[in-house]
This record gives sequence, C-alpha cells and structure tokens, in this order.
Amino acid sequence: MSSMSSLIVRMALDTPLAIEFDYRWQPQSDDDTPPRVGQLAQVPFGRRQVIGLIVAISETSDYAPEKIRDIAVIRHQLPPLSLHWIALSRFAADYYQRPLGEVALPSLPKNLRALKSTALDTALKKLAAPSTAPDPVTSTAPILNSEQVAAVAAISKARNYSATLLFGVTGSGKTEVYLHSAETILARERAEGRLAQVLILVPEINLTPQLEKSVRARFPHLTVVSLHSQLSEGERTRSWISAHLGHASLVLGTRLAVLASLPHLKLIVIDEEHDPSYKQQEGLRYSARDLAIWRARDLNIPVVLGSATPSMESWQHAESGRYQKLVLTQRAAAQAVLPRVSLIDMERIKAQDGLAPPLISALRERLERGEQSLLFLNRRGYAPVVHCDACGWISNCRRCTAFMVLHKPERRLRCHHCSLELRIPASCPTCGNVDLQPMGRGTQRIEEHLQTLFPDARVLRIDADSTRKKGSAQEAFATVHRGDVDILLGTQMVAKGHDFQRLTLVGVLNPDTALFSHDYRASERLFAQLMQVAGRAGRAAGNGELSPSEVLVQTRYAQHPLYRALMKHDFSGFAAATLEERRTAGLPPYVFQALLRAEAKTLDSALAFLQKARDLLPHQNIVINDPVPMTMTRVAGLERAQLLLESNSRAALQSFLKNWVHELRQQPTRLRWSLEVDPIDI
Ligand code: ADP
Ligand code: ZN
Ligand code: ZN
Repeated sequence: MSSMSSLIVRMALDTPLAIEFDYRWQPQSDDDTPPRVGQLAQVPFGRRQVIGLIVAISETSDYAPEKIRDIAVIRHQLPPLSLHWIALSRFAADYYQRPLGEVALPSLPKNLRALKSTALDTALKKLAAPSTAPDPVTSTAPILNSEQVAAVAAISKARNYSATLLFGVTGSGKTEVYLHSAETILARERAEGRLAQVLILVPEINLTPQLEKSVRARFPHLTVVSLHSQLSEGERTRSWISAHLGHASLVLGTRLAVLASLPHLKLIVIDEEHDPSYKQQEGLRYSARDLAIWRARDLNIPVVLGSATPSMESWQHAESGRYQKLVLTQRAAAQAVLPRVSLIDMERIKAQDGLAPPLISALRERLERGEQSLLFLNRRGYAPVVHCDACGWISNCRRCTAFMVLHKPERRLRCHHCSLELRIPASCPTCGNVDLQPMGRGTQRIEEHLQTLFPDARVLRIDADSTRKKGSAQEAFATVHRGDVDILLGTQMVAKGHDFQRLTLVGVLNPDTALFSHDYRASERLFAQLMQVAGRAGRAAGNGELSPSEVLVQTRYAQHPLYRALMKHDFSGFAAATLEERRTAGLPPYVFQALLRAEAKTLDSALAFLQKARDLLPHQNIVINDPVPMTMTRVAGLERAQLLLESNSRAALQSFLKNWVHELRQQPTRLRWSLEVDPIDI
C-alpha cells in the first residue's frame, strides 16, 4: 500500500474545446515522483494519446471517479514551465478568445509535443555535452554618445515594471542602447547572485543574423540563442530548451519568441516595435508587442520599445506619460546625418519605363563614385496585370478578386492570394490577339530596365520571389553588406533595419496608392515604411569619402502632407496630425476593435452568418456594425465578409467577446469564421 494517495491532475490539451480535462495520477511505487504544475504529460484522449500541459493539481474533481482516466507518462526530464508562463498563455487565450490548450501547446517546439520523446532526449543530451563551438570573434563597443548614455541609464536603473519608448531616428544607434542595457542588467543580476535573461525581439527573420552576429561578438562568454520559424526542428528544440533551462542569457527572435519559456527574464526589448509583422495573422492572432508588455508587467521588469517611427498606440502612451519616452535625435556614427529627402513631381516630369530622369542621373552618379543605391518598390513580379488592347481582356484570377501578376523570368501568371499559377497565354483567351500587354511595373520589370540602362552595374533584386529558397535572403543581404552590389532593388524586405554602409541613395517608386486606401492605417504604414527605407541611406561615418546621402520619391501628389512631413523627417508632426484624425473619427487607439470574419461558398451565406452573429446577444457600450463584404471579397474561391465591433472600453469589449464566442461556438454552421482582437487590417 502506497503512502501517497492519488491526485487529480488538470490538463490543457490542444483541442478546440474551451475546457480543461481531469486525469488521475496514481503512484506506482513509494518513491514515484508526483506530478507538478507546468509539466508536460502524455494522456489518453478519446482513442488517441496526446501530450498536454498540467495546469492544476488537486485532490478532487467535479467529474465522476469512473469517468476519470489515468495519466500515462509524465515528462520528468524537463523542469516544469513556470506559473508566469502558464499565466501568459492563459492571458493570451482569454484576450484572443481561444482555448488555453490551443495557445499553450502549439507554442512549444514540435519535439516537446511529440509522443515519442527521443528527439527531446537527444536535444537534452546535446545541450548537456560540453560546447565545441569555436571561440567567437569579439568586438568592442563604440563609445556611446550622451543621448545613448542617458537612455541606457534610464532603462537599466529600473528594477520594476517600466515601459520605455526609445524614439531614435534611423541610424541613431538604438542597438547599442539595447546591448548596453542588457549588459548592465545582466551584470547587476550576476553581481547579486541571480541568474538573468534578456529577450530581444526583431520583426523580420532576415534581421536576426545581423543582430546575432553583433550580440555574440559583444558577449562572447554568454550563451546566445535565436528563435524563429526558419530554424530546423532540432535547432528550435535546442534553443527553446536552452532558454527554458536558463542557460541562454540572451534570446533573440521573431514574434513567436515572445511565447518562449524564460524563467529568469529581466529585460525585454522590442526592436522596430511599429512593425506589422509583430502581429500574427492566422491561428492565434496575437500581437507579440502587446504580449511582451503583459509579460514585463507580470514579471515586474522593464520593457523597451524601440523605433524611429513608433506605432500610434505606443506614441500615444508615450505622450500621455504611460510610457517613459527617451529620444535619440542624432545619427550615431561620426558626422553621419539624415539624408536629404526630395520629391520628384511625376505630374510634371516624364518617366522612362518607371524611372524619372533625375533619379537616373542620381543612380549614375552613385555608380561613378562606387557607392550603393537602393530602389524601393513595394510590388513584386514583372507587371501587376496583363491586358489585351483589342478586346479589353484582363488577367483576373478566377478564384480571387485580384489580378494574376505577370512573372516574366518564370514565364508565369501568378495570383499572390491563392496558389493559382498559369503559363502566360500565347494569345488573348477571349479574342485571340497575340499582342498581350503588361500593365504597370513590378520589381522584375524595373530590374530589366536597370540592366538596360546600366549594363555594367551589379543589380540585385530582393523580394519574396528572389528569396524563396531557405537561406537565400540571408545570402543576398550578405552580398549587399560585402559591397558586391551597386543597385539594390526590392520590396519592403529591403526597407527594414539593415545597416548598409556604402549606401548613399534611396529611390522610392510609386508609393502613392497607399495614400487613398480605405484602410485607415495605410498612411501610418506608408509613412513608417518611407522613413525606414529613407533611413537606410547615409548611415556610415560622414568623413567626406562618401557623397551626401539623398532620398528621391517619385510621386504624383507632391503637395500631400505625408510627403511634406517626410521631407522634414517630422515624425512627431505626422503622429500628432494622425492621432488627432483618429480621435475625431473615433478610431484606434481611441477605441478598441474586434473583427469577426466569415468565409463561405456564397457571399450571402457569409453575410447571413454574420448578421445572425450580430444579433446573438444583447450588448452595452459596444457598437456592432453591419456585416460587409471584405475589400478583397473572394480568395481561393471563397467569399469573405466581416463584422466590426467597437467600444470605448476594452473591458466591456472583452467581457462581451467572451460570452459571444462561447455562443458562436455553439452555432451549427459549416462555414469558417475567425475572430481577431485589435485587428490591424480592416
Ligand atoms: P538604429 O537601430 O537606431 O537605426 P543602429 O543601431 O543600426 O541604428 O546603429 C547605426 C550605426 O551606428 C551602426 O553602424 C552602429 O554600429 C553605429 N553606432 C552606434 N552607436 C555608435 C556610437 N556611439 N559611436 C559610433 N558609432 C555608433
Ligand atoms: Zn482580346
Ligand atoms: Zn487567386
């Protein structure tokens, strides 16, 4: 007879059912180790076995004893996840209206959730073995300027929760501020005999290698790991476990890293906090920035949000004093200054194949001086549409409300919204005309034109098409950093974060469409994107070796206030005007929103579902708008509609959503619906 009695173990499982499940643990022997909250365990579920997370342990259950099944295996080889981590998952689940199990378990590496624990055991063994990594190249920190020093001091003196907006112009050395703050906090904790970890989030996978390199070089004796979606399962498992065991002092990663287990977390940094890729757009539609702030508050530690172009949400918090605001007004490298921004008025100047003569001469000048240029065009492919002059046929996608884009090197028409791909038709499908015309310009077409204009120049295009192969984006950026590229051409992939040293010219092609978007965030996004891409120029020390850097924007709306603010590098002015517009129009950050989307074979059934959802529950302090078709109504053969909910009170919206989603789940329907809290695309 065992001295220990059996226990009831409550588990979160990865199922759409919004409940937790009770299992029984029975000691097999006297020294059998009892389960602990935060451990993973294998349990029977229906006729399957699954891995779940232990979220509570008690002596009793609300279920009848004969209904309760036995827990199969506890994963004792891993220390339990912390209560903070479980609370984080629970918060995310509640806030985004998903079951806990669907949040907590999928955020773990696959190898931890696999029934077979071999991969997990291998990873643990590998981590326990002495490291054979070569000694890293070390680097010394530059001497910080006075603004950087003040920022580091303000960030690292905090021992409690504090949220800081580090508002620093492009090239102002925000990275140094992060690294010095991390160093100060890690050293302080070590001196006081505590383990410590720092999490640094970046928006884009392609930025992790650059950051990882500088972090490793700066902290040669600390364990640095990264977490992002392009790691192999083995790598991801090892990085994750290293963070979970507290071995990794610095964890770098993209948005998914915000859900990592970091038992000794003492500082969180969110670089380029405004970036839309911090928002996950499928499954659990979370904002990594918002979860990071929640984590910092729950752990009572500092969090730093860095950007040259903060989001309106963060800017408003900084203005209202909810966030501490620190400013870096100058570029960090000696005598480096912000580039001069000029507009090319395309109403008056005629372009040749998409490039205006002043931009062409500026490119030529850079080529003659051996300097780099960057052309930014946020449209991939050769031409956004193909068209027949004779009958008016146009390359519509038959499954989406979108055009099929011409991809000339691949000789294909591709829809960027579904997987549809066709050979370029030899003649018009309607009238047989063999002279089909590309309309408009994408990166491939500009690339072709550049090669004709400058046959000796080394032109490199970076976009989603040129970087399909794993690792190819990294390789392409490395080529630019090595100086083996004269003209870099690309989509928003090239606009972010990179510290190109010999780049003195940025050309912006055709940015105007975003000015007239129905999405109220489009201008905020455009302004940020343009300031960021402009910020790639003139980052190196201005010692007279390179020409003064400049940005040329081709626009038909040269008087538009957005471009006027861009010319003056006036983020504050732009933000003040934007926030005032949002306030008067009753838009975020002054109201809180949620969006219910439905997709179905017919638009009518999608709209009918939303209409029914609209009238499902009584509500107060919430506006539920009429259901409307989405702007891009059809994607991959399904019709899509949406219903927007708004409230002045986040709490009112949250409590309504909880009951509402519960009701929605009971609705007999076969159509697919999803709810997004704090949507960023409307
Ligand atoms: P940001 O992230 O603010 O755009 P970075 O952190 O990339 O800027 O820094 C821009 C450049 O300035 C980098 O090349 C960096 O090495 C350099 N730099 C940063 N701080 C200093 C400093 N105090 N003195 C000299 N160079 C610096
Ligand atoms: Zn035709
Ligand atoms: Zn399509």
